[in-house]
Amino acid sequence: MDYYGSQMSKLIEQLSSLPGIGGKSAQRLAFHIVHMPKERVEQLAGAIVEARNNVRYCSQCCTLTDQEVCPICSNPNRDKKTIMVVENTRDLAAYEKTGKYEGVYHVLHGAISPMLGIGPGDIRLKELMQRLQGDVDEVIIATNSSLEGETTAMYISKLIKPTGIKVSRIASGVPVGGDLEYIDEVTLLRALEGRVEL
Ligand code: ZN
Repeated sequence: MDYYGSQMSKLIEQLSSLPGIGGKSAQRLAFHIVHMPKERVEQLAGAIVEARNNVRYCSQCCTLTDQEVCPICSNPNRDKKTIMVVENTRDLAAYEKTGKYEGVYHVLHGAISPMLGIGPGDIRLKELMQRLQGDVDEVIIATNSSLEGETTAMYISKLIKPTGIKVSRIASGVPVGGDLEYIDEVTLLRALEGRVEL
């Protein structure tokens, strides 16, 4: 039975299709939205549409940005010879929050997972290898310590080894299976400083 009227139900249905939002949260959000001032709702809807239309991959590091080259890659103070490889933009944000990493990144947008049928061609590895033809001193692999993250790290290190570029892996201490974005800054920095050459 439709308790709320079709438009309200449609809004709840749309919201509950988002990750992490169950039926109850969707209902709460929908009620909140219909009681918000109309201009605020327009701002919210506008921000969603604008972000979706304008956000793309940085032409260098593949992170999400609304510019051709992201602010990190276009910052002249960043060390372009050190590239940290992360699984997604949220992991990049976690390292940026520490404020201590001065190199640049490469965002894979995923990890190799034979179980899920995700192969090397499904993540942004080709783009990384292209970058390595430039002047690079070190590649720090900071994929998660999950099975997929470790598989990806092994694969990348084997790929890079023949080029003679130094490859390192962030230290363990990052909980196994732990998403980088949930790990505190001190642990992240320790993992980075204690990285080991592969
Ligand atoms: Zn970039």
